[in-house]
Amino acid sequence: MSGSIQWDEKRLEKLKKLWEMGLPISQIGEKLGVSRNAIAGKVHRMGLPKRQSPIAGGGKSGGASSRKAKTTPMLSRADLPLKLALRNITWSRSKCSWPIGDPQSTDFHFCGDDVVTGKPYCNSHCFDAYTTNRESGNS
Ligand SMILES: [Zn+2]
Repeated sequence: MSGSIQWDEKRLEKLKKLWEMGLPISQIGEKLGVSRNAIAGKVHRMGLPKRQSPIAGGGKSGGASSRKAKTTPMLSRADLPLKLALRNITWSRSKCSWPIGDPQSTDFHFCGDDVVTGKPYCNSHCFDAYTTNRESGNS
């Protein structure tokens, strides 16, 4: 660790050059065989202009790849049971919405037959809905 270094013409020239080339101080120091601090100090004393280093490309604006959220066109959500709505299934009021299967499972679906006018279900499901009130053991 030699405290001070000799800044002769050659070194100064080189320093200037490297500085103008935009090398990082640490690399200039390496090339000149002096410490980074020495370079920094010298540059400061010489009043060399600040340069923007091409290496450290600081604040780049981030990727413009923000994906747009998909908007799924739905009929009227309110008409649909929640489960179905969540699955983005479109349904129409003219189809029987009698649930078939377990709503928790993936094979759950709606009947889909044409409805009886004025009713949410097809003929047979209307029957089920409005008559088979309670005896579920009945087939
Ligand atoms: Zn039905």
